[in-house]
Amino acid sequence: MKERAAVCRAGAMAVLLAHAASALAAGDGYGDARHAMLADIRATVADTRDYTGLARLDDRVMRAMAAVPRHEFVPAALREFAYLNRPLPIGEGQTISQPYIVALMTQLAGVEEDDVVLEVGTGSGYQAAVLAQLARQVYSVEIIEALGQRAKQTLARLGVENVSVKIGDGYQGWAEHAPYDAIVVTAAPEAMPPRLLEQLKPGARLVAPVGPQRRAQSLRVVEKNEAGGVEVKDILPVAFVPMVHPDD
Ligand code: SAH
Repeated sequence: MKERAAVCRAGAMAVLLAHAASALAAGDGYGDARHAMLADIRATVADTRDYTGLARLDDRVMRAMAAVPRHEFVPAALREFAYLNRPLPIGEGQTISQPYIVALMTQLAGVEEDDVVLEVGTGSGYQAAVLAQLARQVYSVEIIEALGQRAKQTLARLGVENVSVKIGDGYQGWAEHAPYDAIVVTAAPEAMPPRLLEQLKPGARLVAPVGPQRRAQSLRVVEKNEAGGVEVKDILPVAFVPMVHPDD
């Protein structure tokens, strides 16, 4: 009996938290679609459990996914597809990642409340907005000016204040605000960019798709230990747009 009451209280609390977290997206008419997207993410997480070792994602991560209105980050003509669990074109030959991948990368990065996070590849600004629900501050670098400017406008319109977007080459990271508590890379370099590893705090994680352009890439997690060494884990085969590296 006692136990049951505790479960009920926890349930009520979860509802309250979910409510608070959805403020960004509240009452926009896409609530059911977002709900269906969350169910699809859960199903894909279960399907890929053997790769990731994760049966489910943290509630915090799922709340962040519930809170961000993805339709605001896709071109107007594609809004009706915004909550499908698939990537979508965002212009300039780039794509917004599949929601499952956004959620998984957010989880793997191990973002905590007080964290300062670097994202490479702002694109639409969607992944940055999701990270911003969990972290104190997100710094995001985008190499294509038109996308970076549009992402800034979208984030400002939605009132997301803890994301700073810079136009530049994210292969170099963003040294000014380093070291970071987590780094999320959403374009695929052929090999791990050394500056990004340098800008990672000891104990922190970097999540990146690494591999040849348009061929087999691996979603890789690199954890830096306190001695500065790294532990590398390959999680899942993925297909991201390539990271442009102007020095090539
Ligand atoms: N995170 C994005 C998806 C981005 S797609 C979102 O949520 O919408 C990958 C992005 O990385 C593209 O916008 C591409 O222009 C950008 N990119 C590629 N190489 C880059 C580099 N060297 N530095 C910064 N951004 C880069």
